Amino acid sequence: MKRVVITDYLEPPASIESKVLEGVANVECLLAKNTRELMGELTDADGIILCHEVSITREVVEELHQCKAVVRCGVGFDNIDRKAAGERGIYVCNVPDYGVDEVADHAIAMALACNRGLIKAERTLRQGLKPWDMRSIQPIFRVAGATMGIIGLGRIGGATALRAKGLRMNVQAYDPYARAGTDKLLGVNLVGLEELLKTSDIVSVHTPLTDETRKLIDASALELMKPTAILVNTARGAVVDTDALAIALRAGKIAGAGIDVLPEEPATTDMPLIQLWQEDQQPPVNLMITPHTAFYSDAGLVEMRQKAAQEVRRVLSGEMPKNCVNREFLQ
Ligand code: NAD
Repeated sequence: MKRVVITDYLEPPASIESKVLEGVANVECLLAKNTRELMGELTDADGIILCHEVSITREVVEELHQCKAVVRCGVGFDNIDRKAAGERGIYVCNVPDYGVDEVADHAIAMALACNRGLIKAERTLRQGLKPWDMRSIQPIFRVAGATMGIIGLGRIGGATALRAKGLRMNVQAYDPYARAGTDKLLGVNLVGLEELLKTSDIVSVHTPLTDETRKLIDASALELMKPTAILVNTARGAVVDTDALAIALRAGKIAGAGIDVLPEEPATTDMPLIQLWQEDQQPPVNLMITPHTAFYSDAGLVEMRQKAAQEVRRVLSGEMPKNCVNREFLQ
C-alpha cells in the first residue's frame, strides 16, 4: 500500500481522504507546525497533501525519494517550490475551484460591512448605546451606481464582479493576463491599474502572490485611491503592504479596509495593522480583519479535501492530474 501524508493543519482521522484513497494508499496526518518539522518525515511518501502552515521548499523536495504528487489543499501554491518538484518529476497540483463562491461572498461582505458602517456602529454603540442614529456611521456612499475595481479577474475576481453587478455597481477590472474575452463574458471594463485605483470606490484584490504582485498595493498605490474608497484583500496577504495600509488608514487616505489575509499568519501584535485594529479609539477605525477564513464553509471544506485526495489518487493510479501547476518545470 502506498503512503500519503497530509503535512499540516488537518487533524486525524483523515476520514475524507482515506475514503477517496481507499485501496490505493494509507493516509497519515503529520500536523507539522513549520517546515522544519517536515524534515525526515516524507522520504518514503508517495503523495503529499499540504495546507498552508508549512512550505515544500527545495530542501524538502530533495528528501522526497518516491513522491509522485504534491497537492495543495487550496488555491494558492506560493508555498511550494514548483521548479524543484518539477525537476524531480513530481506533479504539483492545486484545488482551484472549491471556494470561489465563499471567497467572493466574503469579499462582498467585507466591502459592504465597511461601507454600511457595521464595524463603526458595532464598536461605537456597544459601550454607551450612543449616538443611536446615523452619526456613528457617517459618511456612507451609495453602493448602487458606485464603482467596483477588481484586481485579478480570475475565478474569484470574476465571481466577485458578478456579485457587484448584482448590487448595481459599475465594475472595472485590471488584469494584464486575463483570457481574451473574459471582460466581455462578465460584462466589465478592463482598465489600467492606475485608473482603477484612482476611480474605484471599492478596490478588491484577487491576484495570486507572484514576484509581480508582491506589495502591488503599496504606499503609492494607496495614495492614488480616493479618500472615500474601501480596500478589500481576500487574495494573499503580501499583495498588500499592510504597514503602508495602517499608515493610510490612520491618515484618512482611504476610508476603510477589509483584510482576510496577512503577509504572515497567524497575525502577531507587532504588526502595525494589527496594532491599529486593536486600538480602542473613537471613532473606531473602519478596519475589519478575519483570520484567512474567506474560503470556508462546511461544504467548501469537504469539497476541497475530496478534490485534493482525488488528485493524489489520479496520479498514484497512473492517470494525468487535472490541475497541475508546474507543467513548465516537469522533467
Ligand atoms: P485565478 O488564478 O483564477 O485568478 C487570478 C487572476 O489574477 C488571473 O486572472 C490572473 O491573470 C490575474 N493576475 C495574475 N497576475 C496579475 C497581476 N500582476 N495583476 C493583475 N492580475 C493578475 O485565482 P483565484 O482562484 O481567483 O484566486 C485568487 C486569489 O485568491 C489567489 O491569491 C488565491 O490564493 C486567493 N484565495 C484566497 C482564499 C482565502 O481563503 N482568503 C481562498 C481561495 C483563494
